[in-house]
Amino acid sequence: MAGFTLPDLPYDFDALEPYIDARTMEIHHDKHHAGYTNKLNAALEGHEALASRSIEEILRGIDGVPEEIRTAVRNNGGGYANHSLFWTVMSPDGGGEPEGDLAGAIADRFGSFAQLKETFSSTASGRFGSGWGWLALDDGGDLHVYSTANQDSPYMRGHTPILGLDVWEHAYYLHYQNRRGDYVSNWWNVVDWAQVAKNFEESR
Ligand code: MN
Repeated sequence: MAGFTLPDLPYDFDALEPYIDARTMEIHHDKHHAGYTNKLNAALEGHEALASRSIEEILRGIDGVPEEIRTAVRNNGGGYANHSLFWTVMSPDGGGEPEGDLAGAIADRFGSFAQLKETFSSTASGRFGSGWGWLALDDGGDLHVYSTANQDSPYMRGHTPILGLDVWEHAYYLHYQNRRGDYVSNWWNVVDWAQVAKNFEESR
């Protein structure tokens, strides 16, 4: 069966310690992301035209996906895409601040990088239940911060995510238990702003 492939983590499981622990990374990638990948491929079986598209195209067109597989594609295709982005916007050499055009766009839109961090953190921390925090571009090139429920993706509203934070309990519970806010504030130490800037340039 052709299909989507679980991407490798671009670093070792323990690379993001002490901010994200190795056991969490292993389970998150090898079990959760693998599970979304397998279930996405299973849902797309027998839908070859759809399965030949990129995941971004599929999610942008989620309303046109056949009804009998739409929920499965929404949840597992969203999970596939969201985690594929998530691993790449973190790095053991992360942290610091964005530079260049992205820094300028953030200052224009949010006032300052500090204000973006505060808005993003409160948005992600405040998501009720499972979901994601996002920095995304609309089709006019403007930046937005918001959260989505479950595995819903910015692509489903016609946006392009350039930075995402998983706030499902599976992303932090082993190390942080109920302290989602601590996970969110520590996460900034591993954000790979060079990659986010690349995503920004490619999305404009
Ligand atoms: Mn996750």
